[in-house]
Amino acid sequence: MDATARQNIAVLGATGSIGRATCEVLRHLGSPYRAWGLTAHRDLDSLSQLADLLSPAEIVISGGCPEQTPSANPCAPSKKGPEHTQNQRSISKHTLMGSDRWRVRKGTEALVALASAPEVDTVVAAIVGSAGMASTLAAVEHGKRVALANKESMVVAGPIMLQAAAKSGAQILPVDSEHSAIFQAMQAGGVDEVERIILTASGGPFLRKPLNELAEVSVEEACRHPTWQMGRKITIDSATMMNKALEVIEARWLFQIPAEKIHVMVHPQSIIHSMVEFKDGSVLAQMSPPDMKLPIQYALTFPKRLQSPTLRMDWSKRTELDLEPVDFERFPALQLGFEVAKMGGTAGAVLNAANEAAIELFLLEKIRFIDIAKICKDVLNHHHYETTPTIERLCELDRWARQEVMKWN
Ligand code: NAD
Ligand code: MG
Repeated sequence: MDATARQNIAVLGATGSIGRATCEVLRHLGSPYRAWGLTAHRDLDSLSQLADLLSPAEIVISGGCPEQTPSANPCAPSKKGPEHTQNQRSISKHTLMGSDRWRVRKGTEALVALASAPEVDTVVAAIVGSAGMASTLAAVEHGKRVALANKESMVVAGPIMLQAAAKSGAQILPVDSEHSAIFQAMQAGGVDEVERIILTASGGPFLRKPLNELAEVSVEEACRHPTWQMGRKITIDSATMMNKALEVIEARWLFQIPAEKIHVMVHPQSIIHSMVEFKDGSVLAQMSPPDMKLPIQYALTFPKRLQSPTLRMDWSKRTELDLEPVDFERFPALQLGFEVAKMGGTAGAVLNAANEAAIELFLLEKIRFIDIAKICKDVLNHHHYETTPTIERLCELDRWARQEVMKWN
């Protein structure tokens, strides 16, 4: 790609953790990278601030009324304090709607329209959950460069995404730090030369917690990730290690590598983001301090590497890099990830939806932390498995799995 060529970028989920980091990267990169479109579900304040900074051509508000701060939920982003009044929300709304600097569109169809727009070259898919699937698929179908953070869409419909990319010529570039690390290491060799890939996992907040105390952990404890600042859904996923399970499935499709060649190691420092072992025994690792701006920027500028605003390694200090095997008894969700990566078909959609619904119940304190993986296993085992489902069937199963989980309420 010509580095001076126009790079209009749509950031789907701009107000989230990845979305905001992407906006920072775009401000740092400057021309020819331009935020063409920004979207948010409900957080109009953040969207309004980002729009002011980046002057996009389009804004999409995909959800309903502005978010109320869920006071009972300690995972809720802290930026909305008590000083955040309804009056201020109206001001944000007014600023967004009333500006002639950008066009405002509403609703989920507007997300798909933005992801497919002819002016857009790159779509950063940073919506959380399977809610991001339709817009991610639209971007793939329209041949965009897709910087994929929304791992759930690959988990739910990996083969459909890949088929659509093969047809349209879309490039799907990983934003997930582990998959970016693997993608970077794989610049040194072909898929057929890979012996195995080793995804690293921080282990989350409960790596060393006595097993018999896991049943009683609070929402607040589960939300305290030791090395990464992320949205609340992925933070809970990191505590159960369902995040790693989803990443195993994501890697299976993204790199078209069998589940048997995917391994997971616990690496509490989160500096080695993942590794590829080639057939000759060489292991290539990608390292950097934990900062999502790096994989985001690489997905935007690939194959170029440009100066980035990310944290750097401090080579003057002693640095410990520990790697240890995963304890599957502690993290049963990870076992499900390997099983689903082997099964393919409808299994990914069911696991993902069950997990999203179970997390909601956990955040509402209706189920215990350890129930999340149990419920997912149960729903997965009870679903009517098919090998080559359509996207419509996957959406039906997504709804079915959520209803099944609600029976545990
Ligand atoms: P987040 O909760 O911080 O942000 C989610 C974004 O999606 C927000 O902009 C929100 O407005 C939007 N959104 C929420 N529900 C929506 C809906 N129903 N329809 C449309 N938009 C909706 O999440 P995050 O941590 O930024 O994660 C986003 C994605 O990136 C997830 O798939 C996650 O697994 C992946 N990811 C995140 C990180 C990280 O460090 N945060 C790292 C790797 C991968
Ligand atoms: Mg990751």
